Amino acid sequence: MIFMEEKISFIKDGLRLDGRRPDELRPIKIEVGVLARADGSCYVEMGKNRVIAAVYGPREVHPRHLQEVTRAIVRYRYNMASFSVEERRRPGPDRRSYELSKVGREALEPVILTSYYPRSVIDVFVEILQADAGTRTAGINAASVALADAGIPMRGLISSCAAGKVGGEIVLDPMKEEDNFGDADMPIAMTPSGEITLLQMDGGLTIDEFHEAMELAKSGCRQIYEVQRKVLIERYSQLEGERGEQAEVTACD
Ligand code: ADP
Repeated sequence: MIFMEEKISFIKDGLRLDGRRPDELRPIKIEVGVLARADGSCYVEMGKNRVIAAVYGPREVHPRHLQEVTRAIVRYRYNMASFSVEERRRPGPDRRSYELSKVGREALEPVILTSYYPRSVIDVFVEILQADAGTRTAGINAASVALADAGIPMRGLISSCAAGKVGGEIVLDPMKEEDNFGDADMPIAMTPSGEITLLQMDGGLTIDEFHEAMELAKSGCRQIYEVQRKVLIERYSQLEGERGEQAEVTACD
């Protein structure tokens, strides 16, 4: 309420409301393989956002008329838990979740080698457990790692984050207050080679500001990519090690 009544100063002495510099991401944490029954899964924290992604497939398509003879179809469901926001959200799909499911799928599909699995489906479920702006980007980051964890062949990982404009400045990874009361929010998703697979904008930016925001968002995606890559390497070298140990035990027996 205070934010509505007073003109809020989003940046003071070069720092934002949560103490970040304008070009700084919120703290990010990624865990791989968190769900036993999914083929691939991932848990992501980006600031106060808490997101889980589960991947199932490639598997048989139901209903069957949806199947494609030359490739797998990708389904992506973004869902916000009713307890994920301050005021209880009415459960079930709404306009926003349909939009975010569509853009999430479109952000990931370009890197998935769907032609390897004709007549099948790859299902991606993204559950938002706690929301603080940037849930679509956190969801895409989690889904990308979960797809890799499921062993789905991809041309690369997709990394996603937003840049915005608050208090006349371009900032990286806006949190809730900045998103609500700022002038613009621009989420993107990107391949490791810099190909953009998601670009949306809420609010307005000049052409120069747009270029600045794009460079900043890309730098954020590159930082997120490094974390995604690191956790996947750690997870699989650990599994490899465990397998090696088991083989040794068997050899000794
Ligand atoms: P994103 O989460 O990708 O930034 P939006 O810009 O639509 O997507 O939403 C910004 C934030 O607004 C969300 O992260 C969440 O904190 C809040 N929000 C979105 N939808 C609702 C809702 N139905 N009820 C309460 N808060 C919401």
